[in-house]
Amino acid sequence: MNPITLTRSVSPPSPERCPNCGEECVESLRHCAVCSFDLGCPNVRAAHRPKETEGVSGRFRAARESSKARGVSAEFEALAETIENETHVVVAVSPILARSFLQDSKQLYQGYEKLVEGGSRTPAPQEFDSQRYAVAGKLFGHYAEDIRYGLLSINGRSLKNYGIVHIQLRDIAIKDRVSFLHENSYLFVREFDLKPDSPLPVGYRCSWLNKKELVAAKLESSLVPGSGKEEWARLLVNNGETRDRDQCVEAHIYGPFNSAAIENIEYENNGFNRQDRLDIEIIKDIFGHKKVSGWPS
Ligand SMILES: [Zn+2]
Repeated sequence: MNPITLTRSVSPPSPERCPNCGEECVESLRHCAVCSFDLGCPNVRAAHRPKETEGVSGRFRAARESSKARGVSAEFEALAETIENETHVVVAVSPILARSFLQDSKQLYQGYEKLVEGGSRTPAPQEFDSQRYAVAGKLFGHYAEDIRYGLLSINGRSLKNYGIVHIQLRDIAIKDRVSFLHENSYLFVREFDLKPDSPLPVGYRCSWLNKKELVAAKLESSLVPGSGKEEWARLLVNNGETRDRDQCVEAHIYGPFNSAAIENIEYENNGFNRQDRLDIEIIKDIFGHKKVSGWPS
């Protein structure tokens, strides 16, 4: 039995040396290159390096001080508690993809790179395809192909620019393999003007364990007196007119999942066309034993 698997949810490992064979770890490999011991997902280990966790904690402490100075200390503490206990990972997909995923329990949810490289979807137009590989490569290097994208949400809703069916994943399915980024990765790379050889800024990534600090630090400057969960949900997942104007805390899930990983499904209205509506009806039929709810139009 792998002892790290048992303890990972308490304290994710970021070992420099393999606990099994004692040899130096390759930071971007999940398994030890010598003995194949499971070292934990590389995105989680990267987010849990001491300099990263200290960076996030430092930003959280500064935000807490700012909230006191601005008279929103109670809101800040309540927000942090909400993030800790009531946020989940949500993935936005199209109705047709959701239907296909739910209809076939053998199907695994894969990321863009896996689908393109596996020959089961066409690449996006060259301009967007190259941007996608560049941004993912900057954040993850070779294991970008193992990352699936979602976001952190209070109310089960995601960004509608990415799909109108929003799939909330069970915490147990992702908490040991998910890391979070301060912002959508495209916007993050652009905001920090990251070049191929730029180091990633410290304190803007976290794991499931310290998501409270990352999110509270991000949202503090937008907190107003008397605000509550409804406003915070909109601050955390903020739909813009275009993807460029969307705001979120992006979730990076290492590895695939199947439909048994789903906790809940939300969808926006009943779709934009007849096919969407048919797909959503089928989704409701299949997933009817759990909560499926529509947004107010
Ligand atoms: Zn080893």
